[in-house]
Amino acid sequence: MRVLLVEDEIEIATPLARALQAQGLEVTVCHDLETAQDALLEREPDLMILDVRLHEHEDGGFMLAREARQAGFTGSILFLTARDALSDRVQGLDDGGDDYVVKPFQLLEVLARVRALLRRTTEAKTNLLRFGALEVDLSRQEVRLSGIRTDLSSREYALLERLVLSPSRIFAPEELLDAVWGDAASSVSVVKVTVYRLREKLGAEVVKSNKNGYQLGLL
Ligand code: CA
Repeated sequence: MRVLLVEDEIEIATPLARALQAQGLEVTVCHDLETAQDALLEREPDLMILDVRLHEHEDGGFMLAREARQAGFTGSILFLTARDALSDRVQGLDDGGDDYVVKPFQLLEVLARVRALLRRTTEAKTNLLRFGALEVDLSRQEVRLSGIRTDLSSREYALLERLVLSPSRIFAPEELLDAVWGDAASSVSVVKVTVYRLREKLGAEVVKSNKNGYQLGLL
């Protein structure tokens, strides 16, 4: 996991960077806004730790967060700030921050926040399954084909989710009926119709079928 630490006070940045490295993280340290902007593009960090007040600008950390989010940065942002006024916290959240640590801080506190944020990033990453051009986002229950969102009904999505979660398995129609419809349908013909619709929306090859049942067709 990559961390970008932006902190203009070397006596704060150095021990914090060492502590993060000791956790097995790859840390890039920047002491000013300009090198931070370059590092953000080059390093594609999973987490940014931003001091709010930088020597170029008193809201430098907030500015950087705003720019990063506008540029599509999806990782976590933790602010380090000496100012704990409520309005600062609100502004930081508006600018795309995820959490705060108020200075002076204990290293252990920062490390605990970092672990929590990175855990969230990992979960978000592993909830995205890719099969060729097909992308299934399990957290948002969204499906994209070649990057374009495809609207599925809740049953269509539920059936597809079953298949992508066990891509090498063949599911008997009765099993899919039970898993997706429960008691709401009694005939396996709804499975057939739903597979037909999935193929119409996502391409004929998305679901394979044989005499034993259905399987994800993309690997
Ligand atoms: Ca500072």
